Amino acid sequence: MTKIPHRLILTEDQMPKQWYNLRADMKEQPDPLLNPATLKPIKTEELYPIFCEELAKQETDCTTRYFDIPEPVLDLYKAYRPSPLCRAYNLEKYLDTPAHIYYKFEGSNTSGSHKLNSAVAQAYYAKEQGLTSLTTETGAGQWGTALAEACSYFGLDLDVFMVKGSYNQKPYRKAVMQTFGANVVASPSDTTRVGRAILANDPDTTGSLGCAISEAIEKATTTPGCRYVLGSVLNQVLLHQSIIGLESKAAMEIIGEYPDVVIGCAGGGSNLGGLIAPFMQDKLLGKANPHFIAVEPASCPSLTRGRYAYDFCDTGKVTPLARMYTLGSGFIPSANHAGGLRYHGMSPILSKLFHDGYLDEARSVEQTKVFEAASLFARLETILPAPESSHAIRGAIDEAIRCREAGEKKVILFGLTGTGYFDMTAYTSYLEHTMSDYIPTDEDLQPGFDSLPKVD
Ligand SMILES: *Cc1c(COP(=O)(O)O)cnc(C)c1O
Repeated sequence: MTKIPHRLILTEDQMPKQWYNLRADMKEQPDPLLNPATLKPIKTEELYPIFCEELAKQETDCTTRYFDIPEPVLDLYKAYRPSPLCRAYNLEKYLDTPAHIYYKFEGSNTSGSHKLNSAVAQAYYAKEQGLTSLTTETGAGQWGTALAEACSYFGLDLDVFMVKGSYNQKPYRKAVMQTFGANVVASPSDTTRVGRAILANDPDTTGSLGCAISEAIEKATTTPGCRYVLGSVLNQVLLHQSIIGLESKAAMEIIGEYPDVVIGCAGGGSNLGGLIAPFMQDKLLGKANPHFIAVEPASCPSLTRGRYAYDFCDTGKVTPLARMYTLGSGFIPSANHAGGLRYHGMSPILSKLFHDGYLDEARSVEQTKVFEAASLFARLETILPAPESSHAIRGAIDEAIRCREAGEKKVILFGLTGTGYFDMTAYTSYLEHTMSDYIPTDEDLQPGFDSLPKVD
């Protein structure tokens, strides 16, 4: 057999032309979204004021197995896809493991993450419907950047409400979004009623994601031709991210490999859901039995320590309710948490699969261990990973070490979701040994659980 290449990139012709909807093959469906006012399952039309119509249909469609990727979306995908499937030969050698380690690298676009895959789709459908602008919030900045790229391509205006703390700490993120034509507003701002109220109360606040979401939604619902969009958690986002898994599977078929273990980091669940999608289909249909592992921060442990319950998707408590593993919509990780993945809940699809035992395992890891893995990976594989992605690297390294100890020649596939060039403050604190770990106690988590809406 010929040697497997370090990087395999599918040709444009080999790139998948359809997204895969995992729900079509699930034995039981995730519980439906609920209207927060009536607590009744939400109808597709009730989502139209929030999402554009095509996306609302994708959100509630549990039966259509494949969706054609629209031609204009494919055209922009081709500017940065197919993304490479890489064999981590240097890491394997360093770890002295018999395991084969593969990673799918989603960081080679300007947003530096997989988020562009859904941003392109969401901007396209908004444009198709004749909308003229979108709003969103961003914390770390990857989602805002991805959406700014997509909106500039399709000719939509974009307002990004960026948490004021990040806005001041990450001026280059802001400049990238502005380069793509986005209007970046430090939140809380004086451009919305809710922002002005918060500022009147606390003029020096550094803001929060919840406040930025409230501002973005107010702006969307008070501006004609405008909608609010989200970059993770939702079913439609997992659908768009299935391109990651579909490309991975096609590339692995070419080199004659199939993963025994598939590992992804889990914030809201979109990259993990997308990466595992076609392999999960094999498992659901009884064709193969790969082991799926979600890796999350010990300081924000929604799958490992959260409740499987109905909760708001946002801190501002204005979105529909979703049944998912959650720490409560008011949960905020401790201040020393630097590694991203700070969302309080988890995609309803992944939550259901985890609850039913199809997503086999969830692990939580401490951030110093995550940055240790990140630094090692950077030195060996020449990619400076995002802290978020490095949770998956940690998981893969631990699995490869286990293979060495057990003498098992497993095939490991993990998702390398992005690059970490805007996270050097966190890297610096790791390098200077000022980074610390914090694992919330049960008492710390209790207020979040107490805040869960009473649904039944
Ligand atoms: C946003 C982000 C994540 C986490 O989001 P998911 O929806 O869980 O995939 C992971 N990695 C990077 C680089 C991100 O930007």
